[in-house]
Amino acid sequence: MGRSNSQCPSHWILLCFFISSQFWGFSLPSSIIQQNLEGFKDPEDGFHEIHCSRERSRVAWKIIQEYLMPYVEKERYQLPSTCRVHRDNDIYREQEEHKLRSDINEWRCGFCKKAFYEEKYLDKHFDSRHYNLLNASHGKCLADLCGALHCDLVVDTARLKSKCNPAAAAKNRHLCESLANSCFPVNKGPSANRLHDFFLRQFCDAHTCSGGSKPLSQKPKKRSIVYIIFSIIVLVVLLLYYSFVYLFRRGLKRRSQDLKRIRHNGLKKKPF
Ligand SMILES: [Zn+2]
Repeated sequence: MGRSNSQCPSHWILLCFFISSQFWGFSLPSSIIQQNLEGFKDPEDGFHEIHCSRERSRVAWKIIQEYLMPYVEKERYQLPSTCRVHRDNDIYREQEEHKLRSDINEWRCGFCKKAFYEEKYLDKHFDSRHYNLLNASHGKCLADLCGALHCDLVVDTARLKSKCNPAAAAKNRHLCESLANSCFPVNKGPSANRLHDFFLRQFCDAHTCSGGSKPLSQKPKKRSIVYIIFSIIVLVVLLLYYSFVYLFRRGLKRRSQDLKRIRHNGLKKKPF
């Protein structure tokens, strides 16, 4: 952070090495070339320091999407813009939504279509080239909510076993409850009331050192691929069964009609 490409002579050394390698017929790994020549096209670009972790903001966003939004959508509730977990209050959202991944090793910038082989280089590219698109105003850092949202639980489960700090637990509980109050005000109707209680159970009750409930305990069940395959098999079996029953009954009907016809013809022939 705060490093300008023009201050880094290693890029020029690498460029000379790259040109001579082309001349002498040997090559460097493409990863090293992309990693180091990234800043060459525009030496004016620098890295801008933002006091908000992109990685932790991403984790917080993931937790909100997995453990909160399915319930908010089920209630058809609109988060108020003052709610800090609202989409507009994540400074990185615009950039994160402009990440295109076409392959396991191909990440593309949605603004200028430049390709990168790892997400972290695309992050650096956003930091340097598309800095102007960040709305870095106060209170828009999702990473600041990580304490309340249990980001460490998702990133590193080993931390759960570390000794509980009562002061940190109280601070996180206070932040968590203020989120519940601002996102789901109790005077905003039954949906907001239900979601308020749910938010406290899902995120806030665990912020205690005296054995509170398990955080993030409720997660909507996703329909697994096994479930989908099983449903298709059941559907095909039912289709075959009813087709068989239909054809069998049609066959029986035709047979009884044939028998009737034969009997009728037989009776007609008897006078001879
Ligand atoms: Zn770009």
